Amino acid sequence: MKLFWEPITLDLRTTFRVAHGASDQRHNVLVYLDDGVGEAAAVPYYGETQEGIIEYLKSVPDLGDDLFDMDAILDKRPAGSRAARSAIDEALHDLWGKKLNQPLYKLFGLNPQNIPLTSFTIGMDEPHVMAEQAKASGHPILKIKLGGEEDEARVKAIRGATNSKLRVDANAGWSRERALQIIPRLAEYDLEFIEQPLAVDDVDGYFWLKDQLRAQRIEIPIFADETAKTSHDVAKLAGAIDGVVVKTMKSEGIREALRMIHTARAHDMRIMLSCMVESSVGVTAAAHLAPLCDYADLDGPLLIKNDPYRGVTYDGAKMLLPSSAGIGVERIKSS
Ligand code: MG
Repeated sequence: MKLFWEPITLDLRTTFRVAHGASDQRHNVLVYLDDGVGEAAAVPYYGETQEGIIEYLKSVPDLGDDLFDMDAILDKRPAGSRAARSAIDEALHDLWGKKLNQPLYKLFGLNPQNIPLTSFTIGMDEPHVMAEQAKASGHPILKIKLGGEEDEARVKAIRGATNSKLRVDANAGWSRERALQIIPRLAEYDLEFIEQPLAVDDVDGYFWLKDQLRAQRIEIPIFADETAKTSHDVAKLAGAIDGVVVKTMKSEGIREALRMIHTARAHDMRIMLSCMVESSVGVTAAAHLAPLCDYADLDGPLLIKNDPYRGVTYDGAKMLLPSSAGIGVERIKSS
């Protein structure tokens, strides 16, 4: 199989601001294995750059030609860029589906009607700005980015502006003390759950927080995102969290994302399938697993202006998977 790649620049519709930085553009890489395509999202927070991803891809040895021996091929990926490793896995799955002439969801035995509605992300900003964006979006489910001093004011302003379901994501922006202080207050605003309240490496903190909240009879579900990259991380968090956020860019592809989902289920956790700032390539690849999940946060293509591919489409918050073979994405011809 021939491996090649294409750097792309994605222009964002609005500045994307989270607890650890802001951006107007993202520089990702499309990765191809023969006719298969995948995407590597260069997320600055995870230490990934477009240059680093390309350097990694140059180091990948010949992956062989037996694409049905998937683990053997994936094991040939050198250690390094999670995003690039993920893109190779996605391209391999795309090629696999094309060879078998079926969309991935069918090969996984899944019904695309069972995809949960997706949330739409409101980046971190002044409370009144976030409230205006929440109202203007018209989306029935909003994911609110938090991680600063004004977090309660942000949630209060948004709750006052919309009846949409709200989930919040602190992106590791709180200390243990801050989390314990603010979570009981945020619980008053009818939130579905709180994502990644604690620092990335603070696995013990999740057990501590669970005990503290239980003692106060605060029942808002706590999800882990950055702390749970693989199925091993999910197992370590069993008993401490209510749900886990699965992203192919963390799990290094679809194959390990499936293991994360099954591991989470075995521990009675809920599952949200999510994405980075990715085009339709990466998001559609992930979306084939969405029927296995309870929540979807797959709004990447809605955040960008110049998607190079057409894939999953949106009817409001409802996602429709393409039915063509593999991931099912199609290049948009430039006019
Ligand atoms: Mg998150």
